[in-house]
Amino acid sequence: MKFGNKKPEKIPMYVYYIIAGIIIILLNMLVVPAVQERSVQKTDYSTFIQSVEKGEVTKATVEENYIYYEIGSEDSDDAVLCKTVKMDDPDLVNRLLDADVTMDEVLPESPSIFMTLLLSYVVPIVIFIFIGRWLSKKMMASMGGGPGGTMSFGKSNAKVYVKSSTGIKFSDVAGEDEAKELLTEIVDYLHNPHKYTEIGASMPKGALLVGPPGTGKTLLAKAVAGEAEVPFFSISGSEFVEMFVGMGAAKVRDLFKQANEKAPCIVFIDEIDTIGKKRDGAGFTGGNDEREQTLNQLLTEMDGFDGSKGVVILAATNRPDSLDPALLRPGRFDRRIPVELPDIQGREEILKVHAKKIKIADTVRFDEIAKAAAGASGAELANIVNEAALRAVRDGRKFATQADFEESIEVVIAGYQKKNRVLSNKEKLIVSYHEIGHALVAAKQTESAPVHKITIIPRTSGALGYTMQVDEQEHYLMTKEELENKIATFTGGRAAEELIFHSITTGASNDIEQATKIARAMISRYGMSDDFDMVAMETVSNQYLGGDSSLACSFETQTLLDKKVVDLVRTQHEKALKILQDNIGKLHELAKYLYEHETITGEEFMKILEAPSEIPGVSLTKE
Ligand code: ADP
Ligand code: MG
Ligand code: ZN
Repeated sequence: MKFGNKKPEKIPMYVYYIIAGIIIILLNMLVVPAVQERSVQKTDYSTFIQSVEKGEVTKATVEENYIYYEIGSEDSDDAVLCKTVKMDDPDLVNRLLDADVTMDEVLPESPSIFMTLLLSYVVPIVIFIFIGRWLSKKMMASMGGGPGGTMSFGKSNAKVYVKSSTGIKFSDVAGEDEAKELLTEIVDYLHNPHKYTEIGASMPKGALLVGPPGTGKTLLAKAVAGEAEVPFFSISGSEFVEMFVGMGAAKVRDLFKQANEKAPCIVFIDEIDTIGKKRDGAGFTGGNDEREQTLNQLLTEMDGFDGSKGVVILAATNRPDSLDPALLRPGRFDRRIPVELPDIQGREEILKVHAKKIKIADTVRFDEIAKAAAGASGAELANIVNEAALRAVRDGRKFATQADFEESIEVVIAGYQKKNRVLSNKEKLIVSYHEIGHALVAAKQTESAPVHKITIIPRTSGALGYTMQVDEQEHYLMTKEELENKIATFTGGRAAEELIFHSITTGASNDIEQATKIARAMISRYGMSDDFDMVAMETVSNQYLGGDSSLACSFETQTLLDKKVVDLVRTQHEKALKILQDNIGKLHELAKYLYEHETITGEEFMKILEAPSEIPGVSLTKE
């Protein structure tokens, strides 16, 4: 039984079933009737003697208990086979000789019920079983578990990439120069270990890629596989999570066994936080047991293998702070490779890498697009390029234009334009004033951060209108004033509604949320209030996934903190109201323009804002 070792060919499975079916039908058609034709007629001894005397018998075999004989012409097919009981007859031989009967073997074997059953039922079943076992082995082999039995649950499904089978190189990863540099060193070590061992340096056993989702962690790991010409085992943390307790640990064991055999090689565990979460004292659910066992096995294996053999373990996560500290200690994942959101330069490069795959107009300015897509991750940028191409196709063009890119930024960031959702005129007017309120407050406070585009075309994401602000250059540090201005800008929308319509709507919920977030952070985390000085009231975990904050102060302080937040927002809200009141002429003018055009670009906005007011005196009516 060497079936399992055969290289599986690409023959569809139903072919095997058809072949098995044909075999059964053939057996039934050919063999079974042939056996039945030779079925034996039972006769008594006297009939036999009579037949012999009449000269009808042509052939006979005398066996221990029976005599088999044929009646009819010797060569014809319709000779009838008969059987009779052997009697104690001393004359038998003489009689047969007299009648000229050939004393020959009549039947090669006596056909029996047993044979019939065997041929028509047992043989096909056996064939079926063989084919079934063969197929199941083939399946196990193609699943990556190698030729194992049907019960090999504990095998890891780690995919092995050899050499350039991923086809991804470092050049496919744009930006992220720091991460690439650190990873290049690992690739270099795998290629020339002597260079390092000569000095006595040893490579870190493991490197952990950390960063927000979509920044290219998985992509980088694949690029390492493409560059390092060594086997590359890739497995996702969730693949260790199995139905049965202990299976995850078995998989880890198996993975490292395979890796040790193939050294030098790279093992990549994606989304390691699935198994590497902090172990807590008392687990709430039974599932923790399994996870803990898997993690323990991973820790043991990482300690156990010999680093000098050339097995490097890469892992990726966007929740580094939830990882078990034991995983991060020296000797395990002791090298951290940050993979951050791209800066403007990085964004431009990523856009260019992906734009190579589509046809674009010569006039496309990537620096402009990169500027407008502030905060976008690599995955979002890839998506923006694809959306631009899709939009070009939709409009029946052969290449994507700048406008396609600008629109696709909004699609990716704010959702599709909703063509069939119509605002009533009154709603449209309110939204126009609301959005201009934001923009005007922003423009009046900070001369340097103009709006990029304002639109009141509803988006699928639910936003009715939206103001896109683009900073001229990126900020890493924000001053207290800048943050306050931001809060004022967020309150500007609601302020305009109050001022013009003397009523407020539900449209400002997102603004309120954002303003609160900033105000709270200013007081509880950035130390920007006199009352608390530089004391952290809140700590933030999960920084790459939006950040969850947890309070760390007494109940009284908490109450005071809440009050301070409200005061801060209120002050800014009043400031926004004042700005709008002072510029109410421009507010009307701009809102009217937006109401009519539905979209207004930053340039148009600034032009109207800087032009002498068309309706003189209006701005003074309130005072
Ligand atoms: P992560 O694993 O960090 O969540 P991925 O590596 O899966 O992110 O990235 C998703 C996709 O985004 C990639 O397949 C690639 O198309 C694109 N991408 C992300 N970062 C980059 C980058 N730096 N250069 C080029 N493409 C990128
Ligand atoms: Mg990933
Ligand atoms: Zn708003």
